[in-house]
Amino acid sequence: MNKRSVRDLDVRDKRVLVRVDFNVPIKDGRVTDDTRVRRALPTIRYLIERGAHPILISHLGRPKGEPDPQYVMDPVAERLEELLGEPVLKLYAAVGHEAERAVEGWDGRGVVLLENSRFYPGETKNDPELSEQLAALADLYVDDAFGAAHRAHSTTVGVAERLPAAAGLLLEEEVDYLDGVLEDPERPFAAILGGAKVSDKLGVIRSLLGVADTLLVGGAMCFTFFKARGYEIGESLVEDDYLEEAHRLMDEAGEKLVLPVDVVVADRIEEGVEAQTVGVDGIPPDKMGLDIGPGTVKLFEEHISSAETIFWNGPMGVFEIDAFAKGTEGVARAVASASTESDATSVIGGGDSVAAVRKLGLEDEMSHISTGGGASLEYIEGKQLPGVAALPEKGA
Ligand code: ADP
Ligand code: MG
Repeated sequence: MNKRSVRDLDVRDKRVLVRVDFNVPIKDGRVTDDTRVRRALPTIRYLIERGAHPILISHLGRPKGEPDPQYVMDPVAERLEELLGEPVLKLYAAVGHEAERAVEGWDGRGVVLLENSRFYPGETKNDPELSEQLAALADLYVDDAFGAAHRAHSTTVGVAERLPAAAGLLLEEEVDYLDGVLEDPERPFAAILGGAKVSDKLGVIRSLLGVADTLLVGGAMCFTFFKARGYEIGESLVEDDYLEEAHRLMDEAGEKLVLPVDVVVADRIEEGVEAQTVGVDGIPPDKMGLDIGPGTVKLFEEHISSAETIFWNGPMGVFEIDAFAKGTEGVARAVASASTESDATSVIGGGDSVAAVRKLGLEDEMSHISTGGGASLEYIEGKQLPGVAALPEKGA
């Protein structure tokens, strides 16, 4: 990436404020999925090994701009200490007198973890005063929170404007993989899109149609396309406001856009409900389409296995229920084997898609799994992410 990297900074003996993405799920005071903590470790270790003193800050959940015991960072501190094997000094504030005193008195070993940035109303408003107070705690700023880079907040933008700033290793990796997909992908490039809504992903569809050789569409969004084509879609999820747009996209895309040939239908979204596979022109009026069928998995596999670049966002069906998870599983396995057997570059983005890949235990087979759901999609749309834009260019 063309932004200044943490590797370009002289960090020895410096206090480095690191914006990490520790927005992890917590249950009964314990972190239930530590992926994001693990993905932040390379930058933290890099800094410690070079004699820097990292001060970490993140948001967690959606507290309403004030302290909320449900969202304190303590469980994260505990997990981080286990994974890092270094002391974690957890503070009960992020700024102000208490935080300043604690940082002044810190022996510099391990890391400091500040309290949840969203306990402060200024965070989401990118408030200058909060940004000043945060900047006062450190000499340098490193942004490693790709998952928060689509938000112009105090910890992502305000601080970057007030301290010598650089990208962390994870943020760099995220942007490099997404740039690789968007800018000069090895061909053929197959993009796979699914999930619930066309409306969420219009920008992504348009952007991918501009760069990919094939766009494979599954998930609920295919029914909006089918309805636009005049097919019976029964009770399937559909967005009637987007029929015209779907028509236009199909016209523009031509053969690039590949829709399912068969779907799995049922009466309702429920574990154990009776499911059947039908052709896409044979959906019974009283049923809903909840997964792509085996014929579609086969068709998509052919495109995926010959691809050199693959980008995937959005499950192919209601993968949370076993009866409707086969399409997503088939596609995940195809992407995994293309990555390992034919060395294709595979990039997975989106919260639910990543959850599906993890559920199948295939995450290590993919080239890159994005930690940023919304951020990765906005990046693919071609939007500037404020957190990335706020970092100085290389050599600047
Ligand atoms: P991501 O988080 O990867 O971007 P989305 O949030 O767009 O994905 O969509 C994920 C959701 O879409 C899942 O909860 C899944 O159950 C739902 N979904 C996929 N296919 C269908 C379908 N045919 N009918 C209803 N919901 C679906
Ligand atoms: Mg989602």
